[in-house]
Amino acid sequence: MKILVPVKRVVDYNVKVRVKSDGTGVETANVKMSMNPFDEIAVEEAVRLKEKGAATEIVAVSVGPAAAAEQIRTALAMGADRGILVEHDGTVEPLAVAKILKALVAKESPQIVLMGKQAIDDDMNATGQMLAALMGWGQGTFASKVELADGGVKVTREVDGGLETVALNLPAIVTVDLRLNEPRYASLPNIMKARKKPIETVKPGDLGVDATPRLTVLKVEEPPKRQAGVKVGSVQELVQKLRNEAKVI
Ligand code: AMP
Repeated sequence: MKILVPVKRVVDYNVKVRVKSDGTGVETANVKMSMNPFDEIAVEEAVRLKEKGAATEIVAVSVGPAAAAEQIRTALAMGADRGILVEHDGTVEPLAVAKILKALVAKESPQIVLMGKQAIDDDMNATGQMLAALMGWGQGTFASKVELADGGVKVTREVDGGLETVALNLPAIVTVDLRLNEPRYASLPNIMKARKKPIETVKPGDLGVDATPRLTVLKVEEPPKRQAGVKVGSVQELVQKLRNEAKVI
């Protein structure tokens, strides 16, 4: 069974994001970039399925600039077998990514597309759902457990108020949530081995997809600055402040 894992290059989650002075977006020049954390969880799950003998090949795909090959290399070092870089400079929206993934699914015929529930840069939480709709496949989103059983996949989902388990026929789309697993760090030997694994480079046009954005960002602003906190001397003082100053009780 082949698994396709889309991995997005995003600003590292430890970086304090700064808004560009002209309000057109966030600063990415000279900023540490990494694989989207949810995608690391998806790669880890795919590698675990391969280690269990349930998957035979893992293909990591990234849509982004030439430098996104770094994130594919990380996936290869974690245990993916080969990569596909769909090279595209500039913004790429979920619908364009979903169409690109649809074209790659047609070429690669994976049984599962295992992806992040959301990319931490734009917080769209849309690509997996759009791909499922374009393919007409079942989707198990926000997965906290993934089990292959009876020729299908059982996905336990984190929903408001608890857990829901859905059974999907294959092929299917699974998007992963934070508590599914803890991704491994790639070992040095595996990082070295990953250098020899193949990465194919294509352009959206080669896959018949026009990746021109359809959304216009009007303005990006920083959230209002938080005021400094104060230390209170007693519970009475806290209650008094909450009642008379914050007026929340
Ligand atoms: P989003 O819908 O943008 O929040 O992203 C959800 C998931 O779709 C991510 O966690 C990735 O697995 C995948 N994805 C989104 N954009 C890209 C991209 N440019 N390249 C590869 N995968 C992507």
